[in-house]
Amino acid sequence: SHMSPVYRRIMIKISGEALQGTKNFGIDFIILNRMALEIKELINIGVQIGIVIGGGNFFRGINLVKSGIHKVISDHIGMLSTIINGLAIHNSLNSVYVDSQLMSAIPLQGVCDHYNWMKAINLLSNNRVVIFGAGTGNPFFTTDSAACLRGIEIEADAILKATKVDGVFSDDPEQHPNNAILYKQLSYQDVLKRELKIMDLTAFTLARDHNLPIHIFNINKVGALKRIVMGCREGTLITE
Ligand code: UDP
Repeated sequence: SHMSPVYRRIMIKISGEALQGTKNFGIDFIILNRMALEIKELINIGVQIGIVIGGGNFFRGINLVKSGIHKVISDHIGMLSTIINGLAIHNSLNSVYVDSQLMSAIPLQGVCDHYNWMKAINLLSNNRVVIFGAGTGNPFFTTDSAACLRGIEIEADAILKATKVDGVFSDDPEQHPNNAILYKQLSYQDVLKRELKIMDLTAFTLARDHNLPIHIFNINKVGALKRIVMGCREGTLITE
């Protein structure tokens, strides 16, 4: 087609929950393999792709703390969960002939590469998908913070956050489907003023301070990723 992508380089944030699908634990490999094919399509049209993955489908720090585990250890367990998802994504991409590299913020020799900014930039420039695992490598942060941090580091044109709903709503779409309207576009200021829950404030502030656009979209909508990259209306866009 005559249309070309509006973004040259993107950072996709995939939460653990998004990968979990309808299962109550772990990974839905049908969703994962579909994601891999959608990513392949973007690579084929020349879009450079970084991926930050969550770990909530296995362990989330706060839930472990509730079970009596030390906060720092809980977060270590949470970060290691993201590596499991990262390995699975790496494998899925490999099976559809998309070259990717998993880089962990915590060194895990023999399992994956260690995060290196210059290496990551080089890989992206050569159209390799870079999967960023273990979040920021620090407790007390989230993978949303990692997505914004790494997104800024790799000079991504936008963050594409995959969720289980269509975007940002004025009300909870599951609890109040009649009152919940989908916002097509918001400013960073709107999000703060209306106290809309998009990501934690550390992550959000980082994106805002570096003017990094955020797209929120539904991972279950086939073709949503491509539509965003082609500049079509999809989900919610948050910009200046
Ligand atoms: N985590 C952390 N530091 C980071 C990123 C993640 O300690 O920089 C831990 C934290 O315990 C978190 C867990 O890893 O709950 C999984 O990440 P997150 O909750 O962001 O995953 P998601 O909700 O996206 O699946």
